[in-house]
Amino acid sequence: MGTPFCASLFFCGLCDLCVSFFIKEDKMKILSGIQPSGKLHVGNYFGMMRPMINNMERGELYAFIVDLHAMTSVHDREALAQGTLNAAADFIALGLDPEKCIFWVQSDVPEVTELTWILSTLTPMGLLERCHSYKDKIAKGIAASHGLFSYPVLMAADMLMYQAEKIPIGKDQKQHVEVARDIAIKFNNTFGDTFVLPEPEIDDDVATVPGLDGQKMSKSYGNTIGIFLDAKALKKRVMAIVTDSAPVEDPKDPDKCNLYNIFKLFAPADRLQEVRDLYINGGAAYGRIKLELVDILWENFREARETRERLLADPASLREVLRKGAEKARAKATVTLDLVRERVGLKYLVRFLCVARFELKNLFVFRCTRYRHPDP
Ligand code: ADP
Repeated sequence: MGTPFCASLFFCGLCDLCVSFFIKEDKMKILSGIQPSGKLHVGNYFGMMRPMINNMERGELYAFIVDLHAMTSVHDREALAQGTLNAAADFIALGLDPEKCIFWVQSDVPEVTELTWILSTLTPMGLLERCHSYKDKIAKGIAASHGLFSYPVLMAADMLMYQAEKIPIGKDQKQHVEVARDIAIKFNNTFGDTFVLPEPEIDDDVATVPGLDGQKMSKSYGNTIGIFLDAKALKKRVMAIVTDSAPVEDPKDPDKCNLYNIFKLFAPADRLQEVRDLYINGGAAYGRIKLELVDILWENFREARETRERLLADPASLREVLRKGAEKARAKATVTLDLVRERVGLKYLVRFLCVARFELKNLFVFRCTRYRHPDP
């Protein structure tokens, strides 16, 4: 049982004061980001935004807009700048409270690019060559730039910079979190315990939301259903969901139907059961189900759509929210980067306090076990 203050007048590690300074501040850190590379879609919502918004009370939440990552596919400055503001409005409109989390734009914390370089010097080529996302994007015709190839290293820097423990994502990003872990292990084993190992958090029910064509819904693949489309565009997208040509009265397997797999994300349970029965027994008319899905989507996001419009009508306030978030994020990033610089030898003047504080914290939280792993 701790005493109310540090009786030793130094650091005893046991009293309430020391415990609160070194331990209680250590809340669970949850981090995830979204690229401002196109319109927010249903896959982004279920894979990342909804879990992040639901996690606001669970720990220290780091939500950000990864504009540097988006540069691997967007080379239009207006589109990138406006996309960044849109993504910020999307997130807040859907329920993210910037007062309850750290919410910022990736490039506003330039420290992340320095950490990326440091990590890249330890990242084996083979680790990146094995990344499916890179191979998929190349196969879809996206130009194979160095940035696209080293995308996972920047992502590792994002996670490690903030010592994030939990990363809510869709399944497509699982391998990238594993890459970040491998890089962190290599760094820790080479330079001493520094980084927490991040873990992916994936909701199996929505791990890969299918797009119009049944493949993973992605901004990069042009197969999305945007959440904030206008009524006409929304209807056009939903009507374009690819289905087979089986007659209405034929029994069908709902789980193999792309339309059903999107419909089930939004339909109320009783209606979903009715539609499921129609599939199994015959009578499921794709056209009618699509029109019903349009209405459900429109209603589901009505309130968020109105909030988003209000937010985007006042870009100055939105920018101010992001500026404040970047200040908070940068303060955190500087602590990690100071330590990293010292660890690798980029600091010839040792920042004693920074390192000592980190070591003490580890000692008393007994976190060291989390860092030591064999080299990948
Ligand atoms: P995109 O692939 O559309 O460019 P991002 O790379 O910006 O999307 O991903 C943002 C977040 O949304 C990530 O956590 C990613 O895993 C999640 N996500 C993207 N598409 C899907 C999907 N189809 N199903 C589930 N989660 C997804």
